[in-house]
Amino acid sequence: MPLPLIYHEDYSPDFPPEHRFPMDKFRLLHDHLVDSNVVRSADLLRPALCPPAILALAHAPDYIERYLAGELSRDDQRRLGLPWSEAVARRTVRAVGGSILAAEQALQHGMACHLAGGTHHAHYDHPAGFCIFNDLAVISRYFLECGRVGRVLIFDCDVHQGDGTARILKDTPDAITVSLHCESNFPARKANSDWDIALPRGMGDVAYLQVVEQALDYLLPLYQPDLVLYDAGVDVHQDDALGYLKLTDAGVAARDETVLRRCLVRGIPIMAVIGGGYSKDRQALARRHGILHHTAKKVWENQ
Ligand SMILES: [Zn+2]
Repeated sequence: MPLPLIYHEDYSPDFPPEHRFPMDKFRLLHDHLVDSNVVRSADLLRPALCPPAILALAHAPDYIERYLAGELSRDDQRRLGLPWSEAVARRTVRAVGGSILAAEQALQHGMACHLAGGTHHAHYDHPAGFCIFNDLAVISRYFLECGRVGRVLIFDCDVHQGDGTARILKDTPDAITVSLHCESNFPARKANSDWDIALPRGMGDVAYLQVVEQALDYLLPLYQPDLVLYDAGVDVHQDDALGYLKLTDAGVAARDETVLRRCLVRGIPIMAVIGGGYSKDRQALARRHGILHHTAKKVWENQ
């Protein structure tokens, strides 16, 4: 069977084109993956909306209600940095559904990739940094509570710290939060993940890959998770507008391959989300996010 890939047309709603958040990147990523024969559009798995009761496993019910009604406070809107519309709210809830579906597919088949997801700055009762609901925290709680897994490990390689995930899951001992991030970058006030691996500005491929390999070779045997959630943010790239690391395309591909293979050889199901990536050149950005899916397909077909 083909590698399970998850996408929905809701992901890129109408949005101000000059906005700092590249809302069209999901559609452009889809088009890029279809054009480069990674997937046929008809084979993509399309998720349902995530029910509010499942969002509430990681978020305050009144925050969920306020966001869905378009009634966030001005402070919250400023922290979020995204305008509200019914279509944006819908894509937000749909994308959490997509991450749940990706995790389900990974548990069934060993590996799955989302064409969105990784909203790791979202907190229990407020948004931050373009993130509204925290898919990584929701999935962790959901699969732990329904007993499908005994332990989840979140391997967050977005260049920014997964502060929302760390805070929401700090009292969930069976969800292990690992964040590899550039030390001097957003958020200014860091949370405490179970493992924070802070990287210096300007780090390049070789040093970065060593850290990734060492972290996996230590943490996977230590925790033996039943599911890994991998945030494959490409804001570690040298051309990213918001990152300060210096990875090349080849470095990003090597990172993705390392993480995916390390899990597969241990028989640990892994689902990947695309995480952050920022550039005015939206086509280049879509191709950069697509490195994950190209690499995953290669790994999937050569297991
Ligand atoms: Zn980021």
